[in-house]
Amino acid sequence: MEDVHTLVVGAGAVGLACAAVLARRGEPIAVLERNRRVGQETSARNSGVIHAGLYYPTGSLKARLCVAGRDRLYARCERRGVPHRRCGKILVATDAAEVGKLEAIARQAAANGAEVQLIDAADVVRRVPAVRAIAGLWSPATGIVDVHALIDSYHREAEDGGAMVVLDHAVTGVARRPDGWHVTARTAAGATAEIRATWLVNAAGLDASRIAELAGLDVDALGLRQKPCKGDYFTLAPRHTGIAEHLVYPVPVHAGLGIHITFDLAGRVMAGPDTEYVGELRYDVDPAKAAVFGAALRRYLPGIRDDELSPGYAGIRPKLQGPGEPVRDFVIEEASRHGVPRLVNLIGIESPGITASEAIAELVDHLIASA
Ligand SMILES: Cc1cc2nc3c(=O)[nH]c(=O)nc-3n(C[C@H](O)[C@H](O)[C@H](O)COP(=O)(O)OP(=O)(O)OC[C@H]3O[C@@H](n4cnc5c(N)ncnc54)[C@H](O)[C@@H]3O)c2cc1C
Repeated sequence: MEDVHTLVVGAGAVGLACAAVLARRGEPIAVLERNRRVGQETSARNSGVIHAGLYYPTGSLKARLCVAGRDRLYARCERRGVPHRRCGKILVATDAAEVGKLEAIARQAAANGAEVQLIDAADVVRRVPAVRAIAGLWSPATGIVDVHALIDSYHREAEDGGAMVVLDHAVTGVARRPDGWHVTARTAAGATAEIRATWLVNAAGLDASRIAELAGLDVDALGLRQKPCKGDYFTLAPRHTGIAEHLVYPVPVHAGLGIHITFDLAGRVMAGPDTEYVGELRYDVDPAKAAVFGAALRRYLPGIRDDELSPGYAGIRPKLQGPGEPVRDFVIEEASRHGVPRLVNLIGIESPGITASEAIAELVDHLIASA
């Protein structure tokens, strides 16, 4: 039986960022992770984009933590040598109705503290010659990051600060005690471990609603049941390597940002993600979707053929809103909101969770320190 001050459930980008920041106070911290390696779930299955903070409602946690987290992320990348590129992105409008949407996003971005510039069709083509659009919105602060190196930087900082990161330990039981928590975990081989903690931080990603339930919350009554929403990616044929120096996005669709063109630091060009609510966690990419992706891309990239798209990978967003429901914010709450003392829940941490990771961790640290 171990005793710690704070136990973090989940070693994704957010859980490890929390451990790194919390360890700065010098209290004993532990992280329990069910996989044999850190950062294998949603944190390994995303676009790797450092978002500037354009879209989210002003004052929301997503807006505030994205803008603060973006600046912290760039500073961390510089300080710790995490590979990244501040490549900028262009949102493109292909008809008059979309120009109005771009203007609305420009106002939203300005209110959020994200610098953007409306540009005309000629300027769009000058920046990305393969694109056809009637107007664009340029975001210079958007970038890409090597997410695995970022996660590694949090992991190392957490352990250097004295935190214990325990792999292959799935949390199976969470019991409340007068002065904190008694947590049970199980390894793949069936061994069990027990930990007592004063504080519990639920950073379990796709499993966060279940952990909150184990901790005694009525997640349905509180509106905290996550709805998994899958996003698939296709890889573009090598002849499109270097097609764009900047990320290229259409105007956003309801549940996601629209099928966009992104690339990694090795120059591999990808299209995605789409949005598909799923009943179970699965990561297959249906090759038949190439036609849908091709049609979406050809609205602004006429030179792409369906047979140049190969199934890539998929990620799953832990969304709080179901299909057609109004967009929900991140939930980062302690007892004053959900009534259970010494528990910080992180629920619905979809995009921009990578960008916001350090700012989320600082908020968690503040909630614990000021309780
Ligand atoms: C398709 C897609 C594209 C995205 N694109 C971007 C982007 O470009 N930029 C951006 O900023 N964000 C993006 N995001 C969002 C970002 O990936 C997430 O917000 C972020 O990875 C969440 O990190 P996390 O640590 O909360 O969750 P996770 O990475 O899922 O980590 C949770 C961890 O908890 C562990 N766990 C779960 N249950 C238990 C248990 N019972 N016991 C022990 N361990 C447990 C899991 O194994 C996992 O390792 C995207 C997401 C998706 C799905």
